[in-house]
Amino acid sequence: MGDSENRIGMTILGATGSIGRSALDVLSRYPHQYKVVALTANNNVKRMTEICRTHQPKLAVMVNEVAAERLATSLADTDVQVLSGAESLEYVSSREDVDYVVAAIVGAAGLLSALAAAKTGKRVLLANKEALVMSGDIFMRTVREGGAELLPIDSEHNAIFQSLPTNFRDGLSRVGVKRILLTASGGAFRTTPLELLDSVTPDQATAHPNWDMGRKISVDSATMMNKGLEIIEAHWLFGVPIHDIQVVIHPESVIHSMVAYSDGSVLAQLGNPDMRTPIAHSLAWPERCEAGVEPLNILDIAQLNFEAPDMQKFPCLGLAYESLQEGGTSSTILNASNEVAVDAFLNNRLKFTQISELIEQVLQTVEKRPADSLEIILEADRQARVTAEVLLASRAT
Ligand code: NAD
Ligand code: MG
Repeated sequence: MGDSENRIGMTILGATGSIGRSALDVLSRYPHQYKVVALTANNNVKRMTEICRTHQPKLAVMVNEVAAERLATSLADTDVQVLSGAESLEYVSSREDVDYVVAAIVGAAGLLSALAAAKTGKRVLLANKEALVMSGDIFMRTVREGGAELLPIDSEHNAIFQSLPTNFRDGLSRVGVKRILLTASGGAFRTTPLELLDSVTPDQATAHPNWDMGRKISVDSATMMNKGLEIIEAHWLFGVPIHDIQVVIHPESVIHSMVAYSDGSVLAQLGNPDMRTPIAHSLAWPERCEAGVEPLNILDIAQLNFEAPDMQKFPCLGLAYESLQEGGTSSTILNASNEVAVDAFLNNRLKFTQISELIEQVLQTVEKRPADSLEIILEADRQARVTAEVLLASRAT
């Protein structure tokens, strides 16, 4: 394990992002336990320079070549070795001196590095839900065959993991689990009337009421596609049948999800909405550690609210259910077309309400196949992106 001092070797994929920031904050509390081996980012040189100076990794990966050159220049006076290119993400996820990998790249771009960590038997702290949505079956098989420890840091899935018995892999019905209650804040537009959604802006959509997150996941929260992706994520992580997952809107984001048992018990995990809790949990598991999170003052909360999701206002939720039901590459196509649609919305090429329309069109156009191999999955992802771009271009004219 780790280096000569027996510290745990860490790779943080997506270190310049919102999850990356939270992960580094927790790690900085335990310099004697964890050694940051590698940090990765796409192209944010300024932030990467800062965190490399603070955390002194052996390796820093910048996927973008030009950004990698600039990073190397700005770190010339340090011992940090700068690598570039997407292949380097897999390299730093599977190195022998790496024990734990935080998979926090956004979108399909995070799939291969998360898989590399799973294949080489790392503890994988998974934030990148898109990896499971794209390739759930193959991903879970790779985790088993690689002897990896998969710990979800998506807050809901971490809450479910904490509320399940440790032997849940024996089969949920055997351990008395009836249902999973997946909570959702409802996003930026929970109370916005349907007729106003047509004209909402990217800034409005990314202003999340409870969580400070990257732009893509913030838009996903606003469309509720995030909850759709999380249904699929929960299905693969815990082996829970689609009809046993109930989405519950809970605007306060204090209960992070619940597990209902056959004897009538419902177990929940509560806490302030702060990603350092699930990250610290997954780092220390099966122990516990201090995360720097404000303690939950239950008297301040006083009231918790719950409501059913509005499926008409948030069609992405229905599309996600349908794609999971359909199986095969359907959810790969859902994920890829969502990424293109969200990017188009953020760049003012698509209205908010057209996000679900575009995804639906792509799902109707691209042929679905059994998701038997990684090649098939990557091809479905590519086809869905091309189709989405063609449909986008035809809208513009
Ligand atoms: P973010 O946009 O803040 O950060 C994304 C990170 O990925 C950055 O470090 C960026 O450099 C890197 N990246 C982007 N494109 C890349 C590419 N093509 N190749 C390599 N690296 C690339 O996103 P985030 O909010 O931190 O979310 C990261 C992941 O965690 C997402 O899958 C998201 O769904 C999940 N997640 C986030 C939160 C949260 O609170 N932010 C909660 C639960 C799950
Ligand atoms: Mg979540």
